[in-house]
Amino acid sequence: MTKRDYYEILGLSRNASESELKKSYRQLALKYHPDKNDGDPEAEEKFKEAAEAYEVLKDPNKRQTYDQFGHEGLKKSGFSGHQGFEDIFSSFGDIFGDFFGGGGRSSTGADLRLDLSVSFVEAAFGTHKEMDISKHDACKPCQGSGAKSGYPPKPCSTCRGTGHVVRSQGFFSVNSPCPSCHGAGQIITHPCGECRGDGRVLKKKKVSINIPAGVDDGSRLRLRGEGESGPGGMPPGDLYVFIHMEAHEYFHREGYDIHCRLPLTFSQAALGADIEVPLLDEDKTQVIAVKAGVQSGDNLKIGGGGIPQLRGHGRGDLIVHLSVVTPKHLNKQQKALLKELAELDGTPVKDTLKGFFQKLMP
Ligand SMILES: [Zn+2]
Ligand SMILES: [Zn+2]
Repeated sequence: MTKRDYYEILGLSRNASESELKKSYRQLALKYHPDKNDGDPEAEEKFKEAAEAYEVLKDPNKRQTYDQFGHEGLKKSGFSGHQGFEDIFSSFGDIFGDFFGGGGRSSTGADLRLDLSVSFVEAAFGTHKEMDISKHDACKPCQGSGAKSGYPPKPCSTCRGTGHVVRSQGFFSVNSPCPSCHGAGQIITHPCGECRGDGRVLKKKKVSINIPAGVDDGSRLRLRGEGESGPGGMPPGDLYVFIHMEAHEYFHREGYDIHCRLPLTFSQAALGADIEVPLLDEDKTQVIAVKAGVQSGDNLKIGGGGIPQLRGHGRGDLIVHLSVVTPKHLNKQQKALLKELAELDGTPVKDTLKGFFQKLMP
């Protein structure tokens, strides 16, 4: 895919002002923000594209390089764009802070990651899983303070409660976290027995996860608000579920199509046969008519026999790859019949190599 022009992406002329750039980027980012598009990959692409365009054009140096030398010029100067969402959020946190009211993402709890294995069939048709996840929750007995009840934390005497100390080194004053209280500003004399003074405990929590039909290996689901609880009553982070799909015994997947191999004997390939093919749907089969004279590598398509589309309607196809299998063990009668066939074909079994090449090159 060729890269689109940055001005075109933002819908602006080449002499757009800085405030026009920002305004246009905000509109696009708002429209294609992942929170609003439920993981739609097209929106995701547009969101990233707009972020990259804005990052370059808001920077006078990069903009000049781009204006003169285009995408290639930027590449040569070492610009590689954003690596992912986190990257974009950390670069433009202030802008998102404005959009979504309340200081961007730093004020929410941490996001969590859960790796989930599903079978091929579960990925195709969707499933529901209850999972235990461990996450930090405020400790109940001490209400998150970390101190044993009746022994409230005392202000730290080293830093007088500020949490940091200032030391002089020659001309400089060095400000560093207080070594006594590790920056907390207070000392817990009697730690809570439950959380050992941390104020948080790791708790197992059940989450129920709906896996939509059509997910693939590497798909990522986002469960809003199922991450770590936020500091000081701020909203919790999100839980990202990474889907790992187990391989199937017969089928493999390419997008929404599935493929399988159907072995045929020589006689079936030569004479044709009706063969019952297993479908992905549990316990269902379909009889397909293999025509006389098929070759290894031919394939047959069962329309709609594939994976349901993740977004939208319809299903992929099932592609059956035919493969003629040469028998390895023959009984006496089979051998006799095949020899007879060879005679009829006029291709004696004990042909010389010379004779073989003569037939290839008349
Ligand atoms: Zn201190
Ligand atoms: Zn506690």
